[in-house]
Amino acid sequence: MKIGILALQGDFEAHARVLEKLGAEVVYVRTPEALHGIGGLILPGGESTTHMNLLEETGLDEAIREMAAGGGAVFGTCAGAILLAREVKQPAQKSLGLMDITVVRNAYGRQLSSGVLNLETKLREQPLEMVFIRAPIIEKAAKGVEVLAEREGKPVLVQQGRIMAATFHPELTDDAAIHRKFLELAASAHGAGASNGKRGASTIAKSKKGYGKSR
Ligand code: GLN
Repeated sequence: MKIGILALQGDFEAHARVLEKLGAEVVYVRTPEALHGIGGLILPGGESTTHMNLLEETGLDEAIREMAAGGGAVFGTCAGAILLAREVKQPAQKSLGLMDITVVRNAYGRQLSSGVLNLETKLREQPLEMVFIRAPIIEKAAKGVEVLAEREGKPVLVQQGRIMAATFHPELTDDAAIHRKFLELAASAHGAGASNGKRGASTIAKSKKGYGKSR
């Protein structure tokens, strides 16, 4: 299966290394055309304000929204998670708004802003090594958002339908568990015919119903 990685800015090559290790074919996405035929899309870490500006300049913002509305799988890590959020704070900024979460940028205090932690996830029994680099905090997650891992009571790995977000960097460890999970998600979208943007049922909550309840 072909997986697209947004390659406008940030650490996209590290994602490619993990996906290739898992046997996926990687496509670097820099234009809306590059989204055709991919089974899923990764939005990497980097700087979310720059990312959003470049997404708007290239028209990829609308193209990615359409892909997600067609049921396509999208995974955002760190800055990518900020891009997926419905609401961004500190400062407020535009985003793709594909997931019903509110994120606060650079939200861990100076001492804790970057670091490596071993935390529990719902993916398996053993904890997972998580690399945080000037990470955002997911302050609120709506009812339909499943929390797969938490740090100090705040979600760090979440899923809503075929959209997944991590506030850490799974591409920077040797453990490919999260990318494997995303490939499964992408395969389910592919099977449902989502990649042609027509048949796949969108599981993304478009309305703000139920939003605002913190978890
Ligand atoms: N601090 C960055 C931002 O707010 C995200 C950092 C990252 O992706 N590692 O955009």
